[in-house]
Amino acid sequence: MSSVEPGFDCRSCGRRRTGEKPDAGGWCTACRAEVVRRATTPARLATGAFAALEVALLVWAGAFSSRFLVMWVAVAALLGFAAFKVARRVAFEVVRSRGVTLPTQGGA
Ligand SMILES: [Zn+2]
Repeated sequence: MSSVEPGFDCRSCGRRRTGEKPDAGGWCTACRAEVVRRATTPARLATGAFAALEVALLVWAGAFSSRFLVMWVAVAALLGFAAFKVARRVAFEVVRSRGVTLPTQGGA
C-alpha cells in the first residue's frame, strides 16, 4: 500500500479524483452518493406502498384480532425493512444506468 493514491477519472462525471478509490463501475464517491440519494426516494415510496399492502393483508387476515398480532407486526416490519433494501438496490441500478450529473460539475 502506498500513501499516494494514483487517482482515476470518474466514468460518470469525468473528473480526476485522487485520494479515493473508484467503485466497481469506476465511479467516484460523490457520484455514487448522488445515485444513493436519488435512489432513496423511490425506494421509500415503494416501501410505503408495500407497507400499506401489508397492513391491508393483516386486516384482511384478521391479524388485529389475533393474539399473535405483535408477531405479525414484527414480521411485517422485517419484511418492510427487507423490501426497502431491495427497492433501494433496484432503484440504485436504475438511477445509475441513467447516469447522474453532479450540480457542481465543471464549476462554471
Ligand atoms: Zn464522479
